[in-house]
This record gives sequence, C-alpha cells and structure tokens, in this order.
Amino acid sequence: MSARAAVAAVVDPELRVLTIEDLGVLRDVTVEPETGRVTVTITPTYTGCPAMDVIRADIRAALAAAGHPDAEVRTIYAPAWSTDWISEAGRAKLAAAGIAPPGPAAGSGGPVALTLSVRCPRCGTADTEQLSRFGSTACKALWRCRACREPFDHLRAL
Ligand SMILES: [Zn+2]
Repeated sequence: MSARAAVAAVVDPELRVLTIEDLGVLRDVTVEPETGRVTVTITPTYTGCPAMDVIRADIRAALAAAGHPDAEVRTIYAPAWSTDWISEAGRAKLAAAGIAPPGPAAGSGGPVALTLSVRCPRCGTADTEQLSRFGSTACKALWRCRACREPFDHLRAL
C-alpha cells in the first residue's frame, strides 16, 4: 500500500466515521525516494480535542503496517483548521452517522447567518433546538429535533 493511501485511511479517534483525509486534517504525505522516509503533515482540529496524539500514533502504526516504518509526523498550525475543510464525502458520512454536519464557519465569506439553523440528520427539518453546548465530546454540541424529538450530535462549526 502506498504511504499516502495508508495515512489517508486513518480514522479520527472521536469521529470514527471520518478519516483524517475526510476531515481535512491530512495536509501532505511525502516519501523521500532514496531513503523511503515518510513525512506526514497534519493540522490539528479543535484545540482541546485530545485526539491529535492518538492520530499521530495511528499514522505511524498505519505506515509501519504498510511497510513504511521510517515516518515523521509534522504538525502545522497555520492556516488554522476549520470545519470548512471537511470534504463533501466527509459531510455525507457524518449525516449518515446521525451527526449534523457543521455549517459554514464564521468569517468564511458569504452572507452572515444571524440564526444558525442546524438540520436534523434524521428528517432534515430545521426545527431543532440546542440542548447543550457540549455533546459526547468537546467538538460536538447536543441538539434535539422538535419534529422527531430525538437528540443528535452536531459537529460545531469552527
Ligand atoms: Zn428530525
């Protein structure tokens, strides 16, 4: 397996339905032709999410399993990660898992929405309410659909 494919398949420890490629966390994978040394560049998601150490370890393990034991994981912080970096495929996977995908991040251009409507991942209605700013992890908020009465996680826009 190529180093790039091995790294791209690493899943996020908190949002297990998404790979780090879906999330936009994976920035670059390079392989030195002479030495075979792999350099992976990632940008962390939400600060305060303790997932990045796990992701670094998982990247090294995935590369070792794919025959690339000599690997370095670099972290770059600029530009800062935003939920806008989540791919279309990633958004579809989130919705399929019952997690409302984030809306556009503030300051990403476009019209500023005064009321952020979060759509229910089950029935699609915007008639929802926030129950708690924090859901099962710091990255997610807990919302409830007024139509189905079911709570759901919403990945906070950042
Ligand atoms: Zn609903």
